[in-house]
Amino acid sequence: MNQLPAKKQNTEADVTVSSKRYIAVCRGCDLMFETSRKDQLTCSDACRVKAHRNGSLKALRDFCKAFDIEPHMLVQADAAKRLGLNDKVMSREIELDGNPQIVRAFYKRIFDYVEAEAA
Ligand SMILES: [Zn+2]
Repeated sequence: MNQLPAKKQNTEADVTVSSKRYIAVCRGCDLMFETSRKDQLTCSDACRVKAHRNGSLKALRDFCKAFDIEPHMLVQADAAKRLGLNDKVMSREIELDGNPQIVRAFYKRIFDYVEAEAA
């Protein structure tokens, strides 16, 4: 009699979760947003439509093409600047790409804001 292998218990480690989060400044509403998609340039569909219509997406793409950089790098750099991390990015102390320090700084700003509102 063949014995079936014991059913493997799912553990947390089995679940593939991408830990990379990207913080960028939306080209539609000019607010910071968090995303798991590296190349996202706007926070929502509404902002994507708005940014497309008012030409800000085209302007961004033209600018980036001229400097041979990817548009998502620029919107992430905008966020790093707003988070006060541009010196660290410029000195290459931290890298933009999915950097946990940038994500933490983003949440700290949100928490600081919420605390200030509550006070
Ligand atoms: Zn937006």
